[in-house]
Amino acid sequence: MAEEKSLNFLEEIVEADLKSGKYTSIATRFPPEPNGYLHLGHAKSICLNFGLALKYGGKTNLRFDDTNPVTEETEYVESIKGDVKWLGFQWAEELYASDYFPQLYEFAVLLIKKGLAYVDDSTSEEMAAQKGTPTQPGKNSPYRTRTIEENLTLFADMKAGKYPDGSKVLRAKIDMTHTNMLMRDPVIYRIKHAHHHRTGDAWCIYPMYDFAHGQSDSIEKITHSICTLEFVPHRELYNWCIDNLEIYPSRQYEFARLNMTYTMMSKRKLLQLVNEKHVTGWDDPRMPTLSGVRRRGYTPEAIRDFCDRIGVAKRDNLIDISLLEFCVREHLNKVAARRMVVFDPLKVVITNYPEGKTEIMNSENYPEDHSNVREMPFGRELYIEREDFMEVPVKKYFRLSPGQMVRLKSGFIIKCDDFVKDANGNVTELRCSYIPESRSGSDTSGINVKGVIHWVNAEKAVPVEVRLYDRLFNVEDMGALDDDFRNHLNPDSLKVLPTVYAEPEILNAKSGEHFQFLRMGYFCLDMDSTTGKLIFNRTSTLRDMWAKEVKK
Ligand code: ATP
Ligand code: MG
Repeated sequence: MAEEKSLNFLEEIVEADLKSGKYTSIATRFPPEPNGYLHLGHAKSICLNFGLALKYGGKTNLRFDDTNPVTEETEYVESIKGDVKWLGFQWAEELYASDYFPQLYEFAVLLIKKGLAYVDDSTSEEMAAQKGTPTQPGKNSPYRTRTIEENLTLFADMKAGKYPDGSKVLRAKIDMTHTNMLMRDPVIYRIKHAHHHRTGDAWCIYPMYDFAHGQSDSIEKITHSICTLEFVPHRELYNWCIDNLEIYPSRQYEFARLNMTYTMMSKRKLLQLVNEKHVTGWDDPRMPTLSGVRRRGYTPEAIRDFCDRIGVAKRDNLIDISLLEFCVREHLNKVAARRMVVFDPLKVVITNYPEGKTEIMNSENYPEDHSNVREMPFGRELYIEREDFMEVPVKKYFRLSPGQMVRLKSGFIIKCDDFVKDANGNVTELRCSYIPESRSGSDTSGINVKGVIHWVNAEKAVPVEVRLYDRLFNVEDMGALDDDFRNHLNPDSLKVLPTVYAEPEILNAKSGEHFQFLRMGYFCLDMDSTTGKLIFNRTSTLRDMWAKEVKK
């Protein structure tokens, strides 16, 4: 395989395993717990898991890790499937850990029969006391010596619903003095009389994560089970279960989770933002969820590019959010159709242009493609941005000021002859003249002007709303906070401009299309739009505004 980039450590492992003949093809899985919407951290895991299988010829399963009945919902399952597809990946099989409940139960029975698991009646406080500390060994539970027969009966009775929540657990019998605390007789089954989103009331005992994940991998013959670094201490238990059950030897590999500046990436905390209405929902365009960034106008191509650029690390780090924004701009610059929209209108009257006349100008949708054009009506009354006029121009100001000329993009060169002020001294109107020979595309005027500005026809312009988003938090390293994250919400993360003036072509905007409003940023149609009122989300500014702030 011709490589430009060096391999990441996971690719190295996979290549070595294929080369040694350990595997002939690989299998990975993406295992979300359906207790929230996917975020950009999950995108990294998705790109890794699916990316490896695509690169080395293998398969990736989508497995819902739904062993906790209390927090999981079908709504989340649907959104997760939609998000994975949107990112551009197709799973081999859609599977649910809950489908393995009967098999996992049999695995637990097998451990009991091997003398490797026991039913414990200790309270959680008693168990915590038995556990010891990282520097002190634990103590055996008084129930550890129960006979196999007794354990089999008690476990069957737990399953049959004879005991209340929390009264008994099943524990693996490993070693209460083990240096790895997770190996000190971990709980592997607990009683929970709760309704499950798929199995309903069929079960009142549920396996713990450590007794479900590795076994699920094994059942699916996953070769490389990739997870985040916090699972490093779990690896020993993962292997212990597989080895003692003598099942397919899936193996776990850990990588650093994605942390990003100004961003909080935890489903639990994101849920809190939603519930407490700091945002309008999981898909609020300021959220780092995939549904949020999609609504904001980020593209799957940009997110995949970002995941590719950040690579795979073995140590936790903090990725600058401006890299993501850079990837978004890179892609949108290629695919976004250009439109002209005036945010802060100043009226321009072209005094030498015939009253009532409208003339169609052609404007390129994409700067590189001169044949792909749209029509823009030119007329006697236009709007330009207020900041494109200065009564007393500063040095190097190449836009309009008294006596100065500017080119209207895809229009004509105009000259400012005069301006009108209201009683408060605010400029309300510019009186300009245009150069008829300077029409864009057939300019014979011979006049060179330095400034080019955007404009719309005042009479034909379409009023639309724009929503300008900024970072949701104003703290760089959210992971280092020692107080409540709600103290650090950026109060200016959303600014609504209820009326800006767009060229008429905007009426054809469709959901999912990307636009560059010339000089103003990248935008997309928001789903709150109605036929009478179009709403646009700012996906990103054209440049890194934060970088500019820093340099000032
Ligand atoms: P959260 O803490 O946000 O709830 P989680 O790890 O509990 O995340 P899961 O649904 O269990 O969420 O995660 C599914 C997969 O995505 C796991 O393999 C997990 O390791 C991975 N993942 C979750 N967050 C990140 C992240 N920030 N970066 C990379 N991978 C992640
Ligand atoms: Mg989790």
